[in-house]
Amino acid sequence: MATTLAINSDYKRSLLQGLELFQGVDADDVQGLLQSCDRRDLEEGELLLSPGAKNEHVFIVLSGSVNVHVGSPEAPVLATMEVGACVGEMSIIEDRDPSAFVMAAEPTHLLVIHQSVLWDMVNASHEFAKNLLVVLSERVRSHNRVIADSYGELRKFERHATTDALTGLSNRHTMEEAFMREIQKCEQDEKPISLVMVDIDNFKVFNDQFGHIAGDRALSAVASILRHQFRPRDVIVRYGGDEFAVLLPEIDEELALSIADRVRKAVSGETGDGSDSLIQIPIQISMGIAELASGGDLSGLIRAADAALYRAKNAGRNVVSN
Ligand code: GH3
Ligand code: MG
Repeated sequence: MATTLAINSDYKRSLLQGLELFQGVDADDVQGLLQSCDRRDLEEGELLLSPGAKNEHVFIVLSGSVNVHVGSPEAPVLATMEVGACVGEMSIIEDRDPSAFVMAAEPTHLLVIHQSVLWDMVNASHEFAKNLLVVLSERVRSHNRVIADSYGELRKFERHATTDALTGLSNRHTMEEAFMREIQKCEQDEKPISLVMVDIDNFKVFNDQFGHIAGDRALSAVASILRHQFRPRDVIVRYGGDEFAVLLPEIDEELALSIADRVRKAVSGETGDGSDSLIQIPIQISMGIAELASGGDLSGLIRAADAALYRAKNAGRNVVSN
């Protein structure tokens, strides 16, 4: 609903005091221009601005409030504009569609300033021009804040993610908890437990030769072979880069060596059944095995398996070592 703004001059003066665009503005400078402004009433939930709908007005909240949503009107409220605040100014300055949905949070009355009147006000009053600059710079600043916050959220999300996106395996953040659970169980039951560190051979050369995308595919193929070759009870994690760690509960070092050698052959295609092998892709892995020493801890177990992996690499690669 749009009606002509019929207001007496006292009301107009007191009205102007509380509006961010009119602070310090001499009412006489903009009086004639204000007469040409309309008023608009919104019901609660009524949409005022939306991306894709061209906007030619700045709206000033006279009573009530409006909510700003990004992405969809159902998205969480990004900001609430209370009495005195203005909305719509960015789309006018940029001459582009609004970037957000603006919706009445409650029954709301708005002062409606057409873009041509807005520029007339800029010409008529330095204070008005200054206020507009302040409003615009605050908008830019709050946009930057939103972007910075969402980067922060993304980093937090990445830190708390438990699954490696490329391989679908558990990632290193979850390793300690999952490994400790199995270690404690095996210690209680007086059963052995072994760790296998797996590292792809010459993977840098592979990436250089076949490209990073092929490298990614090879990594997920290796992960898939590991998943098929080890038992469901074994805990497989992507340790980082081209390295995986596999914990084998109730398996001693000797048995771990033979299991690992079977896996090594499956990756390099030596098994010949074709189902698990990387077929045409020349991928080989080296593995280091260690069994948890009695009274030993997880970090000691990892160090021992790492040292064994180092020996496997030194022994020429495509090798399993303890
Ligand atoms: P080595 O036989 O000694 O292990 O040699 P290497 O070339 O495999 O050396 P290293 O294990 O130190 O390097 C791992 C390389 O794996 C480094 C990087 O190019 C590659 N890599 C690590 N993460 C990824 C990934 O997510 N995708 C791809 N495509 N490559 C990765
Ligand atoms: Mg490697």
